[in-house]
Amino acid sequence: MVTLQELTAFFEKLAPKELAEDYDNVGLLVEGVTDEIEGIVIALDADEKTVLEAAEKGAQLVVTHHPVMFRPVNRLTEGEGGQRTLRRLLQKGIGLYAMHTNYDSAQGGLCDVFLDAFGEFSERSSFAGTEAGIGRIGILKTPCTLADLLKKGKQAFCPNGFLRYVGNENALIDTVAVCNGGGADMIYEAYALGAQVYVSGDCKHHHARFAYENNMNLIEINHYDAEVGFCRQIAEQLQQAFGNKLKVEVSCHEESPWKCI
Ligand SMILES: [Zn+2]
Repeated sequence: MVTLQELTAFFEKLAPKELAEDYDNVGLLVEGVTDEIEGIVIALDADEKTVLEAAEKGAQLVVTHHPVMFRPVNRLTEGEGGQRTLRRLLQKGIGLYAMHTNYDSAQGGLCDVFLDAFGEFSERSSFAGTEAGIGRIGILKTPCTLADLLKKGKQAFCPNGFLRYVGNENALIDTVAVCNGGGADMIYEAYALGAQVYVSGDCKHHHARFAYENNMNLIEINHYDAEVGFCRQIAEQLQQAFGNKLKVEVSCHEESPWKCI
């Protein structure tokens, strides 16, 4: 057993709340009925299936990357998925903790993991020029082609799926900028910072056009594939910190909502 206070202190160290973007909603979003935590279920997104799974497994806390409460919640009915999730949490007395853009930005968090998938870097910083903060830009120790980066991205995140890109496969690249998840709008910042390639997700046509018209390379790794590693990373860090004092499991319902043909 680990107390909720010990756990929140651990999460706060892993992903300090002040690193979250202004629009975000992170931390302890729902308090459960007990502060004595024996089991945790981890998911990228929680829905009512995740909560029922946690209840069946005797877990007292669900930890997610994406916060269930993102837009204002003004009713708690059975009519809408997000509201049902909150109702199940309250009915089952289970707590909910979210680490979102604060975990993206933290040192060793998702942005760092995302950049590391593309090679070894001699210099790296967040878009703001600090060690922690959203996005990462790095100089590769050994320049490589866009084709090499595409291969690495596919291997690391979607070996059985697909990724999309804009640019020239033979372009020689030494400056790589990334922001996992829905960071496509930061392409303009990445360009201004001198990145030759930007890797992100949820790209729209105008992001692709911007890259195309400015001789910039763009790699889109879909949002889910880029971030699902969160579950395994948090599980491992919890196991390292608390060992058998805590039963930690990644949700068995973890899957992308998208299907492709
Ligand atoms: Zn995300």
